[in-house]
Amino acid sequence: MKKFNFNAGPSILPREVIENTAKQILDFNGTGLSLAEISHRSKDFQPVVDEAESLIKDILNIPEGYSVLFLGGGASLEFCMIPYNFLIKKAAYLNTGTWAKKAMKEAKLFGDVVEVASSADSNYTFIPKGWECPTDVDYLHITTNNTIYGTEIREDLDVPVSLIADMSSDIFSRPVDVSKYDCIYAGAQKNLAMAGVTLIIVKNDALGKAPRQIPTMLDYRTHVEKGSMFNTPPVVPIYSALETLRWLKAHGGVEAMDKLAKQRAEILYDEIDRNKLFRGTVETADRSLMNICFVMQPEYAELEKPFLEFATSKGMVGIKGHRSVGGFRASCYNAQTIEGVNALVACMKEFETNH
Ligand SMILES: *Cc1c(COP(=O)(O)O)cnc(C)c1O
Repeated sequence: MKKFNFNAGPSILPREVIENTAKQILDFNGTGLSLAEISHRSKDFQPVVDEAESLIKDILNIPEGYSVLFLGGGASLEFCMIPYNFLIKKAAYLNTGTWAKKAMKEAKLFGDVVEVASSADSNYTFIPKGWECPTDVDYLHITTNNTIYGTEIREDLDVPVSLIADMSSDIFSRPVDVSKYDCIYAGAQKNLAMAGVTLIIVKNDALGKAPRQIPTMLDYRTHVEKGSMFNTPPVVPIYSALETLRWLKAHGGVEAMDKLAKQRAEILYDEIDRNKLFRGTVETADRSLMNICFVMQPEYAELEKPFLEFATSKGMVGIKGHRSVGGFRASCYNAQTIEGVNALVACMKEFETNH
């Protein structure tokens, strides 16, 4: 039976990315050695990093003056590296969910943290509006897509201070005006690559202002100077990122991904709104195109487990919701197909007919 992968992360990648990476793990560029067996400093591997970097600059239309880095540690390490490198006295955070909260917790180790707004009281079912960004902070940190709760900020905010964004789960799903950000970071395992690498896009001029001593590995300048080669970078995940980037470019780039994301989301949200058994969990205006969360209507609550079993029997994988929300979450990253979304919708319809 065909499986449809809705995992939240690590998650679906284009099949050719997996296949091409697997081939290179067996025999890298015809060298007779595995991608996993060669030096990251070899003349064969450097072009991988160079091409990945230039594709990212091309696909996201990154202006001059920014560096693209491939680091280890996941987005979670960036929660601490951001304040280490950018927080002088005070930083502002928009609290839109679990990841935002974790980022905020780390920042508090380095200075004052202002929570500009929060939707915690409603279990993060919306993106707070109408808040003002203080002008006396070193930066504002946002999480553009809230992977767990299924809300998303799908625009580039205008704020009077330096803007920093965790884009782990929606990077490359839409065009981004990088010039509005001092730093963008993303754990790769949602929309870019196999787990193990984190993408960082950082404005060079924004570095070097924090007055503290920064451990070498946690200082972005180290990695900018060494082109992500200060220590051994995660070579296999970086290679898979390159394959995804080639795929992205060949499939119309972020404009095409944005269009596809809207199509997939419309199909699925329409069914959630139409089907008598289900309801969406977040405010319509803030619905994520990447992580689509829904639960049973209260009167059908007892059908939650049976629906999960039914959908699983039809080939759906990874649709169980995060424990903080319950119900279901269908993650629809770039590699998710319309066919996959239609298959899930067909399950929902058939299950409705049966009940
Ligand atoms: C998954 C995720 C993280 C955590 O990423 P790690 O690479 O596991 O540290 C952080 N932020 C967001 C928005 C995520 O989706």
